[in-house]
Amino acid sequence: MMDKAKIGTCWLDGCSGCHMSLLDMDESIVAVLEQADIVFGPLVDAQEWPEGVDVAIIEGAVSSQDDLKLAKTARARSKFVIALGDCAVTGNVPSMRNGIPTRALLERIYVQGANPSDGVPTDGVPALLKNAVPLQEAIKVDLHVPGCPPKPGAILMVLSELLEGRVPDLGSKLRFG
Ligand code: SF4
Repeated sequence: MMDKAKIGTCWLDGCSGCHMSLLDMDESIVAVLEQADIVFGPLVDAQEWPEGVDVAIIEGAVSSQDDLKLAKTARARSKFVIALGDCAVTGNVPSMRNGIPTRALLERIYVQGANPSDGVPTDGVPALLKNAVPLQEAIKVDLHVPGCPPKPGAILMVLSELLEGRVPDLGSKLRFG
């Protein structure tokens, strides 16, 4: 019996909607899981992106030092990296903050928008990068799957093709928004 492929997933600066779409494959996910194990992701109790991942599925833009570190680790430990969804592909919603200095942004959220006496937290909040950028500006991406979120059928087709050893041709399934 052949070893199962290994899939890792993560979301960076995203809303989790792309992961919801992944789960919206409903029972088709069973067919995927017959060929592959999900070894890292929000539904998996793993603390660190493991070595030897075959397919990395990454949602969200790269907005913080933590995002950058995770994206680089996933890239280094995975054979094939998918940018899933418009935030990962173009920056989309997270990049709307670009152009606003990060200090002004944090003041607006934590001081003006919350409790002025608490100030901007310095502990437990990842340091923001100057801009939220698409995944391809941080690491090499092998396949872009746009959509906000991408349709479950498109994600299923991509995974099915990869697990059969073919590079998916998104063709008519390609759409933004
Ligand atoms: S592409 Fe859309 S659904 Fe996916 S993380 Fe971004 S905002 Fe959410």
